Amino acid sequence: MDTHAFKRSLHRSERYHRQWLRTKDVAGSIDAAYNSDLIASIRDNGYSLEHGRIKVLLAEAFGFCWGVERAVAMAYETRCHYQKERIWITNEIIHNPSVNEHLRGMNVQFIPVDQGAKDFSSVANGDVVILPAFGATVQEMQLLDERGCHIIDTTCPWVSKVWMAVEKHKRKEITSIIHGKVKHEETLATSSFAGTYLVVLDLEEAQQVADFILGRLSRETFIEKFANACSPGFDPDRDLQRLGVANQTTMLKSETEEIGHLLERTMLKKYGPAELNEHFIAFNTICDATQERQDAMFSLVDKPLDLMVVIGGFNSSNTTHLQEIAISRGIRSFHIDTPERIGDDNSITHKPLGEDLVSENNFLPSGQVNVGITSGASTPDRVVEHVIEKLIALSDNSMP
Ligand code: SF4
Repeated sequence: MDTHAFKRSLHRSERYHRQWLRTKDVAGSIDAAYNSDLIASIRDNGYSLEHGRIKVLLAEAFGFCWGVERAVAMAYETRCHYQKERIWITNEIIHNPSVNEHLRGMNVQFIPVDQGAKDFSSVANGDVVILPAFGATVQEMQLLDERGCHIIDTTCPWVSKVWMAVEKHKRKEITSIIHGKVKHEETLATSSFAGTYLVVLDLEEAQQVADFILGRLSRETFIEKFANACSPGFDPDRDLQRLGVANQTTMLKSETEEIGHLLERTMLKKYGPAELNEHFIAFNTICDATQERQDAMFSLVDKPLDLMVVIGGFNSSNTTHLQEIAISRGIRSFHIDTPERIGDDNSITHKPLGEDLVSENNFLPSGQVNVGITSGASTPDRVVEHVIEKLIALSDNSMP
């Protein structure tokens, strides 16, 4: 399918909208629902707050990114503009439970999922359908267009940039190596715009790709490993001769770069410097916001911290990566999605990396305590404020 031509024709449709109107009323509602005076004052105070025995240190970049702010505002604007129509959203607008709850409260319905597949059967001609910040697959867009829906596309421009990169690979008959999570909505959308592609989760999987290219891994082992992470009919002997790298925008920047360097070195070894440009190309598609939040986290974990609280949806990829940074420095770190995870009895229910939720008692230690805090790109400041208020209350009430 010519995805580029499809997008061009969709963008010309009167039923397709991708403009953020910056409506004043909406800005007021969003401010009231998500922003926080406490967080603004902590920012003004050098990103720290001291209260009794607790010192809170905030990362210097955290929370809502521009792309998320835009997507949420566009969803609110949609409700204001289409007051009578049914409004759907193809997925969580962003990975944050409180934001998605607000949208439900505004009677925005989520497309139901049946046995892992989205069920669009209730969506009718004339309905309004919002595409979330991390986009939607080209097949979903096609279906909604054919059904005569109004499409409000909040896809972040950074994500669209990655789609353009994989379309460029497709035009040049290059295989896209996508650094991402194979089932993440953004990676599903990106791969729908790609021609031939292979998704690698991390450096270890990229190393297996390199090993295959250099003849150190058998075809059978490769196919078994990547059977569910590649385009239909993928043939590693044929399809790993010319490569381009793309990424899910929320992956760890340093890892995407390492994967790019590894594959570049691999192609250099296999084909030699004179032919390298024929066999490997890379575009920089890492989003600024993800990078800034990761950089701020690296600075924060250099400070003396007793523990770290990372706030964001459990399915939020960029939040998980912030948690990884804390863990890599050996800091006691707790990933929570809502303030309610912290109990008044000094307990916490949190999600250790790659594990299910667990509960722990005596969460806040006694004595003077330095707590680092950050949040993912889809977490409103209001949620961070409530977490800080809980921590302060705990420090006042629990052991001195
Ligand atoms: S994290 Fe980056 S790519 Fe994702 S919505 Fe925010 S600005 Fe866009």
